[in-house]
Amino acid sequence: MPHDDFPAGTVWLVGAGPGDPDLLTHKAGRLIAAADIVFYDALVGPGVLDLIPDEADQISVGKRSGRHSRDQATIDRLIVAAARESRRVVRLKGGDPAIFGRTAEEVAACAAAGVPVRICPGVTAASAAVAAAGVSLTLRGAARQLTFVTAHARTGEALDLDWRALAAGEATLAVYMGRAAATLVMQRLLSAGRCADTPVLVVVNASLPGERIIRGRLSSLAFLVEAISADDPALLVIGEAVRPAVAPSMSPSVPVSMERA
Ligand code: SAH
Repeated sequence: MPHDDFPAGTVWLVGAGPGDPDLLTHKAGRLIAAADIVFYDALVGPGVLDLIPDEADQISVGKRSGRHSRDQATIDRLIVAAARESRRVVRLKGGDPAIFGRTAEEVAACAAAGVPVRICPGVTAASAAVAAAGVSLTLRGAARQLTFVTAHARTGEALDLDWRALAAGEATLAVYMGRAAATLVMQRLLSAGRCADTPVLVVVNASLPGERIIRGRLSSLAFLVEAISADDPALLVIGEAVRPAVAPSMSPSVPVSMERA
């Protein structure tokens, strides 16, 4: 059936998922196939980029910590300018565009310029991370709250989070951009009263060929992330929900690369 949701001059902010192209939605695949120009982030998987038509322009606007290839205002200007040239613009973002994806800024920039803009959701890194480890983000009776939090502070600024609230209760914490601040996250949560034995899961390159699953406890979080390169995306998940249901050695379907208690 033909779709009429992508006329020339429109911008789609498209969730590319965690990396594996099989985790892309059908809709995202269709929009990518119809694009004249694609602006993509550093964390968009290579298998997803392969789906961009040869005729379409591919522009990397990737940001990796510390190395900003384009600032946000420039990205906003580029997508608006491409739409004004009557192109079909796909702005590909890792995971889900609505989670730590600067989507609000890009929607606002398009709206201010009178450019139609829409959002296609994607599988977020936290979903891919727990799926890889064979656990859930929530747990009946034990983890009734889920908090998505970023541990990335703006350059030169302290990490200003409400640690008491994060440490309290039964919440699962899905910490994005948390590798560099892992020691701080550990210390602050412990001093705010979170139990040292709280299970922790770290998934590096979730859904990608280099996927690694690391398990431990909150008290060992600093060590768990030690060997992770700054170039590899890593998600930290903290809470009872990520406690393995059975001993990992008894569960051959769940890959385990490291266990540190
Ligand atoms: N919008 C994205 C998040 C962008 S913030 C989403 O919904 O997933 C970037 C952070 O996401 C990374 O620093 C890392 O913490 C996490 N991340 C993204 N892709 C990942 C992957 N494949 N494996 C592990 N973590 C990932």
